Amino acid sequence: MAEILKAKPVVKIVYQELAQLLENQAIEPVLELVLIGKDPAAEWYVNNLVKKGAKKNIQVNLHKLAPSITQDELMKLIRQFNEDDKVSGIMLQKPLPQHLDEEQITETISPAKDVDGFHPQNLGKMLLDQDALLPCTPQAALRIIEHYGVKTEGKHIVVLGRSNIVGKPLANLLLRKSATGNATVTVCHSKTRNIAEHCLRADVLISAIGRAGFVTSDMVKEGAVIIDVGTNLITDETGIEKYVGDVDYKAVINKAGAITPVPGGVGSVTTALLLKNVVIAAKNAINNKIY
Ligand code: NAP
Repeated sequence: MAEILKAKPVVKIVYQELAQLLENQAIEPVLELVLIGKDPAAEWYVNNLVKKGAKKNIQVNLHKLAPSITQDELMKLIRQFNEDDKVSGIMLQKPLPQHLDEEQITETISPAKDVDGFHPQNLGKMLLDQDALLPCTPQAALRIIEHYGVKTEGKHIVVLGRSNIVGKPLANLLLRKSATGNATVTVCHSKTRNIAEHCLRADVLISAIGRAGFVTSDMVKEGAVIIDVGTNLITDETGIEKYVGDVDYKAVINKAGAITPVPGGVGSVTTALLLKNVVIAAKNAINNKIY
């Protein structure tokens, strides 16, 4: 039976780090959080962020906008946030409506306030191992790996998914010359042939594709560490809606050495790291640190 790599102790440590950052300096972190439209999962996530932020002395201003908002209107709002010295961080909850140009919007957010770490400048600095606001979900996967003492050096790590916000940055961080890096990384995607063969060679398998139950036990090497980033809303056999990962948890738990649960895994750590990024951005602004 696999060890369950629960988020709770990791989240606790991240919030302690956040509190320490707030202790040492008079900072009033403010996050401008933009939600467009009425996606239930997105609404649940942003409401949770507002609540968690309040508990951690971070003011989260939630802007619920109609899906009819134009590109120009949204860009104008972001520029206002960029110019407002009281604003520490800006976050746009995904998914965005189809008519909006996500790339242009991401590039409009000031890199210093880009708490998601999606701006090309932050991603570029990440690639070059320079100081930057790092994307929260890849960071969350690494924090779990670090906390539970999973060794990455020289290990074969397979990442399923190559999105700009999870798979690609995560694969890159795993290549770093660091305690949670130095891995040999294989990245798989929808055009990869024989995915199961790659997965079977993984010492650590990280799935971020968004397909419930995609990773079955016959794709997992005995004793492998499984990090499940996937968050998929499904209706179970009793008609109840619930979130599950990409991994067939019930089956894989009997073969893996360790596994993250969904919920209570990567997602919870991601939220904590997002709030920590807001505090880091606020602190950087006070210390005139320029990204
Ligand atoms: P995304 O942008 O849709 O990317 C999905 C990736 O998976 C793509 O690279 C895609 O390949 C690949 N893929 C899809 N179907 C596949 C298949 N059948 N076989 C192999 N590869 C396949 O998704 P994302 O934003 O990275 O999110 C991925 C998952 O992580 C989702 O479940 C999302 O909800 C979850 N997520 C969780 C957190 C968290 O904090 N826990 C944060 C963000 C996202 P192509 O590139 O070839 O299309």
